[in-house]
Amino acid sequence: MTTESSLRADVVEIGRRMYARGYTASNDGNISVRLGSDRLLMTPKSVCKGFMTPDMMCVTDLEGRKIQGDRDPSSEMLMHLEVYRQRPDVQAVVHAHPPTATGFAVAGIPLDRAVLAEVVTTLGSVPIAEYATPSTSELPDAVRKYIRAHDGMLLANHGALTVGGDLFSAYYKMEIIEHFAKISLVARLLGRENLISREEVLRLQQLRGTYGIKAPAPICDDPGAMDTRDPASCQVLQAPSGGGLRLVPAGIPGDEPEIRLTYRELSALIEDAIRSLR
Ligand SMILES: [Zn+2]
Repeated sequence: MTTESSLRADVVEIGRRMYARGYTASNDGNISVRLGSDRLLMTPKSVCKGFMTPDMMCVTDLEGRKIQGDRDPSSEMLMHLEVYRQRPDVQAVVHAHPPTATGFAVAGIPLDRAVLAEVVTTLGSVPIAEYATPSTSELPDAVRKYIRAHDGMLLANHGALTVGGDLFSAYYKMEIIEHFAKISLVARLLGRENLISREEVLRLQQLRGTYGIKAPAPICDDPGAMDTRDPASCQVLQAPSGGGLRLVPAGIPGDEPEIRLTYRELSALIEDAIRSLR
């Protein structure tokens, strides 16, 4: 049985790591953990997560009413409460703004391509919950769509959210998302991203049990029916059929690299071309 004092110490340590790794700036981010069946231990609002002490934490009930603590609970408490409501298996919730993953959330690009075997086995797909005004009830509404089938997600134009069977498991998923985002960014800058084939993804999924990883939901089958798949019951992962290959080379139809130009850049290019003709 984990004691309250050790959970308080773990929240302090995770806040320190998040701040040290640049996942939060100033007073951003929040962390919570279940204290028995009917209470939560939660970081307070308006404090830097890098410099917390165990006595700063708030204890609330599952409706968010403060039971103990000098400070008010996190401004994102509603999002945490919704996660615990939807996921009885979840013991801890972590929210931060890791810059590379949040860049993907700002660009509207989900981390849903099968590119790293370990991410496929641990997190599966990392979708983006629709934009919602922070600290309002819009945010739990946006998170609800994905939380039953995902242990990690991006929050559009905001940050990332991870959950787990204990505090460190939830925190490590935040590390995995940011690491995955950095690797994806580098691969995209290099101009190609070979994908793990669907057949290999299914093999990796079967290995989850062997590794002792409990995923909230399986990878969606029926890769053709993108629009009919329910993100509450399975994970949408981009993994094309390999036809015998375990890695599918980049450049498959519909996956050609593209160059985007602003109108001003395009006009300048055309003007240059015309000038060189004269
Ligand atoms: Zn936030």
